[in-house]
Amino acid sequence: MIVTAVRAYRVRVQPTDPIRTGRGPVPARADLLVELVTDDGRSGWGNGSDSETGIAALAAAAPHVLGLDLHRTDPQSLWPTLSKRLPIGPLSAVDTALWDLHGQALGQSVASLLGTESGHVRPQVRAYATGLFRRERWTAAEHARELVIEAEGYAAAGYTAMKLKTGFGLDADTRHTAAIRRAIGPDIALYVDSNAAYTPPQSIALGEAIADYDVGWMEEPTGPTDWAGYHQVRAALQGISAPIPVAGGEQLGAAADFAAGCDAAAWDVVQPDVVSAGGITGMWRLGELIRGKGMALVPHCFHTGIALAATLHLLSAQPLNPPGCGPPFAYEPLLEYDRTDHPTRQELMRPLISQHDGFVPVPAAPGLGITVQRDVLDRYTTTSETIAAL
Ligand SMILES: [Mg+2]
Repeated sequence: MIVTAVRAYRVRVQPTDPIRTGRGPVPARADLLVELVTDDGRSGWGNGSDSETGIAALAAAAPHVLGLDLHRTDPQSLWPTLSKRLPIGPLSAVDTALWDLHGQALGQSVASLLGTESGHVRPQVRAYATGLFRRERWTAAEHARELVIEAEGYAAAGYTAMKLKTGFGLDADTRHTAAIRRAIGPDIALYVDSNAAYTPPQSIALGEAIADYDVGWMEEPTGPTDWAGYHQVRAALQGISAPIPVAGGEQLGAAADFAAGCDAAAWDVVQPDVVSAGGITGMWRLGELIRGKGMALVPHCFHTGIALAATLHLLSAQPLNPPGCGPPFAYEPLLEYDRTDHPTRQELMRPLISQHDGFVPVPAAPGLGITVQRDVLDRYTTTSETIAAL
């Protein structure tokens, strides 16, 4: 199975019913996709974070990828070369696509390949529902009412954990958290995410105000590299009546930034994303770093179905997070399961990935176990290019 072409696609979906976080509107969902084509007609897919330089930067990968035999090449062996030549977003896409092909060449799922290192190959992964945003069209009263209806829907669908968007003011956040905890009862984990909308003192005040509602973690309580602020919030929230763990890292990419955050004791839960933290190899390496610091790896996952599948394979094979690090369910791997309307997650590939009784099955077929739907890809592609071919 020889790589004969490198193709790139920029996909973009304009939201039909826009949502917002505490920091502002969620923009159009834009992603870089890489397809590695082989001489026997197979394709390996990867999703990288979108950037203007994404497609052009991929040219640097072509000499190291074209002509590769994926029967014999472990993607981890290419990491030292590719990571020096590519920005982290395009690198993430290429690395994931190489894993997809490597698995196909060997007739094994990516989870099975990774599992030979970790000793775990889970057929399904526990998921928490990421939703409970504010819709742009809602009034404040509608926001409060609709959040409860949405949370009750997740509980009825079998989820054992969900995440609420905070960052809309201390009073509103506190009322929303209280109302949702009342609605879902004591047995479902509830996390909150302010998307870096607050200062550290504001986040500490929020933590104190919601301490009675059994909050599993507070996510992005300050700017992504405000290590002193993270440390301040983490120390304060460990000291309240019902301690709240601190989560962050979704906006970071470089391993050096994750290492700096770990050294600063910024987090309890670390959330790198497979599209921006170096693909499957990058995430695997980060997991070792994060667990080594006594923190839990709970990946961020908010991109296309390719990224969702890649994250599922990673989590299937992840070692356990350190016990006693705090958040409910984060000892075992935990999937962020995006529940917002998002066609390049929901429609782009088959099989459809869905949740049952709080768990999401890992695609079982070789590689990532997915087939990209060309008509859907065409519908959302804004630019495509064959970067290089033999
Ligand atoms: Mg977040």
